[in-house]
Amino acid sequence: SPDIDDPLLGGLNEPQREAVMTTEGPVLMLAGAGTGKTAALTARLAHLVRSRLAWPSEILCVTFTNKAAREMRERVGQLIGPAVEGMPWLGTFHSIAARMLRRHAELVGLQANYTIIDTDDQLRLLKQLIQANDLDEKRWPARQLAGLIDRWKNRGLNPDDLDAAENEAYANGRGQQFYQLYQDRLKTLNACDFGDLLLHMLNIFRSHRDVLEQYQQRFKYVLVDEYQDTNQVQYLWLRLIAQVRKNICVVGDDDQSIYSWRGAEVANILRFDKDFPGSKVIKLEQNYRSTPQILAAASGLIKSNSQRLGKTLWTERHPGDRLRVIGVWDGPEEARRVGEEIERLEREGAPLEQVAILVRAQFQTREFEDRFITIGLNYRIIGGFRFYERAEIRDALAYLRVIAQPADDLAFERIYNTPKRGLGDKTLEKLHRHARSRDMPLAAAALDIADTDELPARARNTIVALMRDFARWRDMEKTLSPAELARTVLNESGYTDALQAQKTAEAAGRLENLSELARAMEDYETLGDFLEHVSLVMENEAAGDSEKVTIMTMHAAKGLEFDHVFLPGWEEGVFPSQRAIDEGGLASLEEERRLAYVAITRARRRCTILHAANRRIYGQWTSSIPSRFVGELPEEHVEQETTLTGGASLWRAQWSEQADPFADVARAQPSRVKTRGPGWQRAASQDFDATPRRISENKRSAASFAAKPRADIGIG
Ligand code: ATP
Ligand code: MG
Repeated sequence: SPDIDDPLLGGLNEPQREAVMTTEGPVLMLAGAGTGKTAALTARLAHLVRSRLAWPSEILCVTFTNKAAREMRERVGQLIGPAVEGMPWLGTFHSIAARMLRRHAELVGLQANYTIIDTDDQLRLLKQLIQANDLDEKRWPARQLAGLIDRWKNRGLNPDDLDAAENEAYANGRGQQFYQLYQDRLKTLNACDFGDLLLHMLNIFRSHRDVLEQYQQRFKYVLVDEYQDTNQVQYLWLRLIAQVRKNICVVGDDDQSIYSWRGAEVANILRFDKDFPGSKVIKLEQNYRSTPQILAAASGLIKSNSQRLGKTLWTERHPGDRLRVIGVWDGPEEARRVGEEIERLEREGAPLEQVAILVRAQFQTREFEDRFITIGLNYRIIGGFRFYERAEIRDALAYLRVIAQPADDLAFERIYNTPKRGLGDKTLEKLHRHARSRDMPLAAAALDIADTDELPARARNTIVALMRDFARWRDMEKTLSPAELARTVLNESGYTDALQAQKTAEAAGRLENLSELARAMEDYETLGDFLEHVSLVMENEAAGDSEKVTIMTMHAAKGLEFDHVFLPGWEEGVFPSQRAIDEGGLASLEEERRLAYVAITRARRRCTILHAANRRIYGQWTSSIPSRFVGELPEEHVEQETTLTGGASLWRAQWSEQADPFADVARAQPSRVKTRGPGWQRAASQDFDATPRRISENKRSAASFAAKPRADIGIG
């Protein structure tokens, strides 16, 4: 073929080229894991620009994570050079919608400098609303309301769109009322939540034809990766934009739909042909990522799902090793074992960035962290415990938010008495009352109230001083870089001093994190840019550090690949999750199975699955049985191994005492002992640290945040 030497097309197979060259009209690329869907989409993007079919700014390209967007940008850059730099519309749904909304904010009653609040703020806001309206928060938790509101927004529903059943879903028919109250409150705060980014834009598209037409004209081509995980609002948003030119290319894999809990609808990909009649469907069947053993194991597993399109996958790669399934005694041993395996890989010359541990639930990561810190193995955690969620970082950001946007009450509330300046709840209450009665933000109320005698003199003076500080910082914002501003604010507010005065290891770690924050800000020109970046940092965002093992959730690993993948915790109740089991529905178990398929197909060379006989979950020791998914792996592609020696019989005894609801699991367990060994109690009391220790799902102790691999920790 004449294209063979072309850096863009040369590396692609026939169907991939077709996906690149069929630029006009709707295209659906539906194919299994590792078949080069993302690679083809990237080449298509490069091709469109290179052949001048569109300017970079005329292409809308949606990726699932910010990381994926960065990688795509980089790759396109390699293919076509600096032309890629003007690609403002390459990003996640959220980042693209946020950018659009900045331009049209006034159409939904916001200002262009609106704040994007995160789930933590969202919950606080809802709590306030619930309290202010005399609802029993124990009975109607804010978390539940937050979940409902997210669900409504994911489905593109405004408060007025809720039907009776939806309305009933909260506080005996007050769902709509609280949703509306929340939206009103956000508007006063000049803020929106993540769900709003797309919903507001959808509302604007529907009510302002001119705006919609502007984007329909602008985007000559629309490209979407991971289409199987789009939710309703994303789908509607895309369909509106693409419906005029119809040059839309979506890629996906129905077997990798793993976000239905967040409103994703695999149906979107299945009905693409109906939405865009005459679409070209391209199937890719050659897998370039994994060895045949890995591929066969994953394909064998996913066959247990009934609801799938089904597809063929093949590969030319060397057969490779079978999947390893390792049974261990408990969680710490699992971590020890994985640590040893990784050290062995390291000695054999495997780069650490090619090693990943993919977990089902956040709580699983702690054991690996503890172990890796002990043995001095560098790792990074992606997702979950995000840098920007640490308390000290949130405090610093709150200061910056109040500077950028004085109406940001949530931020103001966070720091008005942090560090402690003697402003108590009483003062805050008065501020709130003052603000409410005059319909002004808290910061404005603080200034206002200082002219009255509503507050005792001391509180008044403190507030005046604080507001003076903010005025000064706001002035500085015009001249200082964001990083300089942050350093100044942290010093002048007394925040740094307060931490230093603590003289604890924990405080030292926090100070280190704050310097890290300032370092991160050096990449940004304006405070607004930086704050927007922070709001958009999604789960998969990570300091692009090599030489580190990656620990992340299976969900976050979508689209990625690693030479060596470890999959710990394949036990009933961990994976599939207890929740999926309890729900009992076919759909939730099939989603878990798709997750298993995603997890296994991240591996290029070796995949190791582990299950422990005993696990401590939220401070409770429980005995566990291997995941049903272990039993579903085709035997001929699996190598079983157990490290249970002395404990083995105990373990089996333990295992056999479980009622046996999963007959298929039994296949994976050839020998079973009927009675429980007498040593069980003894073993339990000797081997385990019986002290209940809460393993929190989302927040680790500050000490472990501060802990850096290879540093001297784990001693304190
Ligand atoms: P997933 O479903 O997991 O998102 P995918 O279909 O998007 O997978 P890619 O990530 O694009 O697959 O590609 C998988 C691997 O195969 C990558 O390492 C990619 O560089 C490589 N690859 C893709 N196409 C080809 C090709 N034609 N020749 C050689 N390698 C390829
Ligand atoms: Mg992909």
